[in-house]
Amino acid sequence: MPRGKRTVFTVLCPESGNRVGTIRFHKQDKMGKAWKEHSSKLKKYCPVCKKHVKPKFKEERHSK
Ligand SMILES: [Zn+2]
Repeated sequence: MPRGKRTVFTVLCPESGNRVGTIRFHKQDKMGKAWKEHSSKLKKYCPVCKKHVKPKFKEERHSK
């Protein structure tokens, strides 16, 4: 496993499915362990719904 491997999560609006951003976490570190807890506090603005939403996160796998 390469050093500094990060997991990228796509941030999605749960209502419209609009992609509102991406977020990166190191899964191995403390932040990684707490990422679900951390992400549950996040709010993102969705330009489609024109409001802040509690986003969904989808793990992006970069397999080459
Ligand atoms: Zn939306």
